[in-house]
Amino acid sequence: MREILHIQGGQCGNQIGSKFWEVICDEHGIDPTGKFTGDASSDLQLERINVYYNEASGGRYVPRAVLMDLEPGTMDSIRSGPFGQIFRPDNFVFGQSGAGNNWAKGHYTEGAELIDAVLDVVRKEAENCDCLQGFQVCHSLGGGTGSGMGTLLISKIREEYPDRMMLTFSVFPSPKVSDTVVEPYNATLSVHQLVENADECMVLDNEALYDICFRTLKLSTPSFGDLNHLISATMSGVTCCLRFPGQLNSDLRKLAVNLIPFPRLHFFMVGFAPLTSRGSQQYISLTVPELTQQMWDSKNMMCAADPRHGRYLTASAMFRGKMSTKEVDEQMINVQNKNSSYFVEWIPNNVKSSVCDIPPKGLKMASTFVGNSTSIQEMFRRVSEQFTAMFRRKAFLHWYTGEGMDEMEFTEAESNMNDLVAEYQQYQDATADDEAEYEEGEEAYED
Ligand code: GDP
Repeated sequence: MREILHIQGGQCGNQIGSKFWEVICDEHGIDPTGKFTGDASSDLQLERINVYYNEASGGRYVPRAVLMDLEPGTMDSIRSGPFGQIFRPDNFVFGQSGAGNNWAKGHYTEGAELIDAVLDVVRKEAENCDCLQGFQVCHSLGGGTGSGMGTLLISKIREEYPDRMMLTFSVFPSPKVSDTVVEPYNATLSVHQLVENADECMVLDNEALYDICFRTLKLSTPSFGDLNHLISATMSGVTCCLRFPGQLNSDLRKLAVNLIPFPRLHFFMVGFAPLTSRGSQQYISLTVPELTQQMWDSKNMMCAADPRHGRYLTASAMFRGKMSTKEVDEQMINVQNKNSSYFVEWIPNNVKSSVCDIPPKGLKMASTFVGNSTSIQEMFRRVSEQFTAMFRRKAFLHWYTGEGMDEMEFTEAESNMNDLVAEYQQYQDATADDEAEYEEGEEAYED
């Protein structure tokens, strides 16, 4: 058994996290009371159920999930929601103060007070595991709790479990969706942490999610519910290979080995096909070539960056449903041959694909794409520009220094993110035979 411990924090983290559990409970045939009501004639649904669930007495399946927040509201609605009773009541850890969209409150003051209570629950769950493979954290980077306290928790876990994997589902802020101006600060301070303390980050960019809802799904005023529908489909797709039997990327470490050529460059673009809005999916049916074409399309990426402005270091595709593996392989090779300039030639065979028999609910076939593309720097640049515009004038800094933060941490976070952008650019420009240039670049970063 190779268990994963799931943690969700803050409003966004709790909202997307609980959607994730609804979706995977459905896929594994687990009802809201934790009972298995799936297909008893096949063991596909239960074979790897222990990756995400504990088995309690009476054959009940309980999510290995810890829910945290600095205010009770979101968790109250989860508790009274459709799957509210499935979670272990002891695993709800919350405060009353709120973080007021202030990263410093989540990371250094209010959150720091609650963190030991969260770590106690995490430790208890970890001790119950046979062989914990790692953690997954759901949070937004734009607020205070998921962002500040979420990254505090990540660094504490790294300290205590240095050899376990840390995967994050991180929601990046966009002015198209958000309500507060300091989000670029919170996001940049978080990225600074994620670069060092997370192993792999699935980037969920509200800017792209909004555009998909508005442009492709024709929703005139997308709500968080609409955005989260896309997120939960993606999270289900990304974790499919961890939850069902198969070969490719069957655990968090294998996923990392295939996708991460350089340790800092672990921020992934994810894509999904077919894109559907809530309630509409049953009408859509696609062929393997259509799925492949859409999956690689920039319009299907959950990150506002165009892969054609960069190059893929690596990529993985997970197809789901009944289909021919041979056809999948042919289509994937076809994409790479036709677009070879978009893949770095110095990592041969950098695209992997797999097929899982079980489709997501309501679809016959689907595919999920995870790519390590240098074009993701476009999103970091966007956040960085918004950060710098305010930081130049020290606007809103008093909210952070008032919680005891030093301006220096802002400067460091800003330059760490700018370094990240430069590293993506460096590998985007690298060719198979410019070793000398590459070594110079390498030295420059060690300074
Ligand atoms: P926290 O409770 O202090 O962690 O703060 P929030 O999670 O509310 O963080 C605010 C950021 O998260 C903003 O960028 C919001 O646009 C975003 N956000 C909040 N709730 C959701 C949600 O349910 N879905 C999505 N996609 N984004 C959300």
